[in-house]
Amino acid sequence: MPIYLDYNATAPILPAARDAVMAGLDLLNASSIHSFGRAARQAVTAARTNLADYLRVKNAQIIFTSSATEAIVTALRGAAASGVITSPVEHEAVRATVPLLPNHVVIPVDANGIVNLESQAGILKTSSAPMLVAVQHVNNETGVIQPIAEVIRLAKDHGALTLVDAVQALGRIPLDDLAGADIIALSAHKMGGPKGVGALVLREGLSITPLLTGGGQEERRRAGTENVAAIMGFGAAITHVPEHLQKHKQIGEWRDEMEKQISSAQPQIQIFAARAPRIANTSMLALPGAEAATQLMNLDLTGFAVSSGSACSSGKVGPSHVLLAMGVDEKTAAGAIRISGGWNSSPQDFRQFAQCYIEMARRLA
Ligand code: PLP
Repeated sequence: MPIYLDYNATAPILPAARDAVMAGLDLLNASSIHSFGRAARQAVTAARTNLADYLRVKNAQIIFTSSATEAIVTALRGAAASGVITSPVEHEAVRATVPLLPNHVVIPVDANGIVNLESQAGILKTSSAPMLVAVQHVNNETGVIQPIAEVIRLAKDHGALTLVDAVQALGRIPLDDLAGADIIALSAHKMGGPKGVGALVLREGLSITPLLTGGGQEERRRAGTENVAAIMGFGAAITHVPEHLQKHKQIGEWRDEMEKQISSAQPQIQIFAARAPRIANTSMLALPGAEAATQLMNLDLTGFAVSSGSACSSGKVGPSHVLLAMGVDEKTAAGAIRISGGWNSSPQDFRQFAQCYIEMARRLA
């Protein structure tokens, strides 16, 4: 079996989430009045309660969506703001949507991909109408953690709303810093839930214009028959977050050891944001002179599933927009690959990867 180190693209499904999805497939329409409908409704409510309990919010603050992408686009298009302030290292869901909106501004990031707070404050000061600040909690390519509590505080000080894409943070770091956020976007599949379900979490009392109009599901905020099975899988996965947070402490040690071995054997290899606050499972490395696609194929043949940057945009293996925004030159960025572990990773996965990567670097040099 190949070794899977691509959790930031998606995590293998947790057994408990799989069982919940399987049970959910037999349920019927959660909006029906009859007993079958009531059983499905109950299951959706139980999943919502699990998520609400973990986030310490009320059930009514959660809108289940088909993905974090849908949650993000709903928020960007539906929040009561006159424009969006965002960063250049956001996920494509943000990057592809903001140019379609009437007014948007991009704040620069530093060499680690961390947003410039002074710049954020400057833009907020000069905006006459309330803006929406859309900044991710954790970057999907480098694992860098934004100073999100500061971003939120600054926005609040200037009367702006905040949208935090916390997809890569959920299950990897505690979400306490998001306590003041107005809107949070989450996805189930990066932390062991099924693909095709996400959530939009709204501050109490905040309303949003729905993206999908139609039936009255999700309190008229997101039309469409609920994906009961996927929602149940999300609800089951979320109960495993506390143990995953513990495991991530170990994963951090394995990741750091891997990076140490790689840098001492091949000092020309660049590790991005190595000294910045990062989630424990992610490492982004560049081998100068070797295209990412070549490395990925080599690693695939030797039994490692990793990727170059964002898997959502793979297929196209181009230089990462995140690295380019961090000021990395195009040639180096074109040789960057991402290793990301998770709930089912072992220390051997990281050790064997280090060995294999070092050998590959020698071969390709
Ligand atoms: N935001 C981040 C940071 C991500 O990594 C991803 C997935 O790659 C998304 C948003 C989109 O999530 P989903 O796959 O649920 O649409």
